[in-house]
Amino acid sequence: MTIDNAASREESPENIAKRLIATQRRRRARRQLSIGFLLSAIFIGWLVNDFLAPDINNASLSAKPAPLAPEINLERRAMPPMQRQSHEDQLKKGDSLAALLARNGVGAGQAQAALDSLKGEFDARNLRPGQKVRVFRAWPPGVDAKLTEGEFVGFDLIPEPRQKVIVQRLADGQFETTRQNRPLSEKYFVADTLITSSVYEAARSSGVAPNLVADLIRLFSFSVDFQRDIREGDQLEVLYTRRFDQNNQLAEEGEIIFVALTNRGQRHAFWLHHLDDGEQHYYDEQGRSVQRLLMRTPVDGARLSSRYGMRRHPILGYTRLHRGLDFAAPVGTPIYAAGDGQVIKIGRYGDNGLYIKLRHSNRFETAYAHMNGFAKGLKKGDRVKQGQVIGYVGRTGLATGPHLHYEVLQGNKPINPRSLDLPPRHELSARQLTAFETTRAQAAKRIGTLASRNNALTSLPR
Ligand SMILES: [Zn+2]
Repeated sequence: MTIDNAASREESPENIAKRLIATQRRRRARRQLSIGFLLSAIFIGWLVNDFLAPDINNASLSAKPAPLAPEINLERRAMPPMQRQSHEDQLKKGDSLAALLARNGVGAGQAQAALDSLKGEFDARNLRPGQKVRVFRAWPPGVDAKLTEGEFVGFDLIPEPRQKVIVQRLADGQFETTRQNRPLSEKYFVADTLITSSVYEAARSSGVAPNLVADLIRLFSFSVDFQRDIREGDQLEVLYTRRFDQNNQLAEEGEIIFVALTNRGQRHAFWLHHLDDGEQHYYDEQGRSVQRLLMRTPVDGARLSSRYGMRRHPILGYTRLHRGLDFAAPVGTPIYAAGDGQVIKIGRYGDNGLYIKLRHSNRFETAYAHMNGFAKGLKKGDRVKQGQVIGYVGRTGLATGPHLHYEVLQGNKPINPRSLDLPPRHELSARQLTAFETTRAQAAKRIGTLASRNNALTSLPR
């Protein structure tokens, strides 16, 4: 046995020096190699990124809704290894969960067992038509899905955005119902667009959901005459929210946080502001509520398009002979009470056709003519709230086309609704104004953040 290691060997100083130099050279070579390797890895990475990766168009853009990721059913992952498949169906008018399960091939006994389990946890009678229900089937692994229908193993539904109800068959064949909270997170979106035909179309085409567009149009109905005021090139800016579930699926539409309409150079801007008492309202820059005593457009503005009106009906403005304003809109468009008040006339009145007159505070009265019909059950003496639907656009009486003829009177004297400068319903106090400034600053900051990620936006907050 020989012992041969560095310590036992005797070496000359010359040899030691040579050996050290050699070691250093080897190390240097190794280092150069690894730097070279790193550089080429970066280069390859760049190649892959630029030429091979799918072309994601502005993935970080948040001004438009991002494409939604496919849903992953976390709660289903924990189940025994069975192949599962769900089929989505919807409740129809007059439909029941039992009927839905039956038409999805679930046997009466199984359906009853599942519904019995649901009963203690959730009242299915409150479900509305259009409610989506996923019916789950499962079969053992290895069995071809094409050859078997599988077994019914339960269903789930989302009765309200923050809640999910799951009915699941357990290993012993019994069904169990669980309610799951769905924490939602709010995301902000910005729309900034020029109006080419109508406010409705501009907002819709920039991605704002229909119900938010309806809210938006109602907001401006107090200060804008949608039939006469909107011009091509007017600008609309909206900051709004949407709420997403944990799988990044859109769960519900949120709210308008800020909105501005620049109409022929005049900017009408409103911010949603929460008051200390829990109420929330929209206010203009001076802290005046968006609501006025009377509405300028007492009709569903989404249904008014200036082009529609122009072509089909002469939109008469206020003159000595024509003492009202005409809003041309399709038959059936909802008409709103312009302000809180009381019905003092309702019925057929000669050339006015079907007609309603309301009395408001400050000796104001408003009248609505040529209606197609009245709101169900509305009668003389009834109290109405501002924005409440009182009837529908028609062409009864002496009317060349379907339109609402709207009149405002004060102390029995007809006045031009367009010249009315009505006071706001309420104003913020000096103390409330301080909090409101914070609200506005937050909105501006959010818009700034969103806008900087999207250079397609045409303007920045002012
Ligand atoms: Zn008229």
